Amino acid sequence: MKNSTGPILPGSVIGVLGSGQLGRMFAIAARRMGYRVHTFSPETDTPTGQVADVEIKAHYDDLNAIRGFATAVDVVTFEFENVPSATAQAAAERAPVRPSGEILHTTQHRLREKTFLSNNGFPVTPFKTINSLQDLQAGLAEFGCPAVLKTAGFGYDGKGQTKIKSVEEAEAALALTGRQEMVLEAFVDFDCEVSVVAARGLDGSFAHWGVIQNQHHNHILDVSIAPANLPPGIAGEAVEIARAVLEELEVVGVLCVEFFLTKQGKLLINELAPRPHNSGHLTFDACVTSQFEQQLRAVCGLPLGSTELLRPAAMANLLGDLWEGGEPNWAAACAFPDVKLNLYGKLVPKPGRKMGHLTVLSRTAEEAAALVRAARNALK
Ligand code: AMP
Repeated sequence: MKNSTGPILPGSVIGVLGSGQLGRMFAIAARRMGYRVHTFSPETDTPTGQVADVEIKAHYDDLNAIRGFATAVDVVTFEFENVPSATAQAAAERAPVRPSGEILHTTQHRLREKTFLSNNGFPVTPFKTINSLQDLQAGLAEFGCPAVLKTAGFGYDGKGQTKIKSVEEAEAALALTGRQEMVLEAFVDFDCEVSVVAARGLDGSFAHWGVIQNQHHNHILDVSIAPANLPPGIAGEAVEIARAVLEELEVVGVLCVEFFLTKQGKLLINELAPRPHNSGHLTFDACVTSQFEQQLRAVCGLPLGSTELLRPAAMANLLGDLWEGGEPNWAAACAFPDVKLNLYGKLVPKPGRKMGHLTVLSRTAEEAAALVRAARNALK
């Protein structure tokens, strides 16, 4: 086992499980600071692999490959949380894994995550475990309609979820999701959605980027704006909840808490992501220390950096749908001098697939949001 007490310094090798855009931006931050990056996933020529030093192609359940990967690095982190527990355990035999495999295990499954949150007194959307039509009918009677049925495992960006508008739809909704463990949630008629991206260092230090406001389209994040336009009391409460979640889970790394803010001004946790988050992408261009550099600092046992927002900012996702009429007009977006274009190097654009994002810094958050939308429209 490697030395896991002293800081892991520039020149060392960071292993990343997963190979998407989060790993890519992490690798860019790590290479800038003089680290080497190895990535592990079942694919090649990936967003992370394109900027990493070494790209390993193997399946997450190939534990020998995982052990070999972990042997060659100084610390293992991840950008994809749906890695099997056994994978994190096998990696941990050879190198420190940060955040720990237990955090992955809790947060990769909606029921385990919500049970952890409610057992620890955190405010969560009302939920019920669903294993049968009877469970579902009882849940709908309790919560009323509409309600949202979600798969307990492996869900993201609205995948594996159905909105049930009437009790008559129950049977069909269950048939649609197949025979697997499900969660029923009360439908939250929210005022807005917000997130707190935060980091916890190896020494327990805490840093956060304030509250970010998120607008979704078809269940996928569309635009994020910082700082969120919230009463200071609510913003402070969201940060304190995030701090307590990171403490309780003993996170070493970055974690995002996604909230619904109800029309009555109550914060409810929708979801946790134990890694940098799409709503924090604007920190890459708009903050002294990005969420990716912070993850690096945390997992290497270095002091956390300043999270100061340089100017109000907004981020707009670029989904594969934008390619419908051919290659987007990149020059038109670059004609906005304040727009930062981030593309992830994905080879095949598909509807709903996150291909890149735009970030704008401006005088006010509203102005940044208007500009980033205008720049995105210019791509079409
Ligand atoms: P999720 O994959 O659970 O983060 O859901 C994606 C998006 O679907 C959320 O960001 C919301 O916009 C919407 N959504 C999910 N669950 C609920 C709910 N219980 N009530 C209202 N909207 C929801």
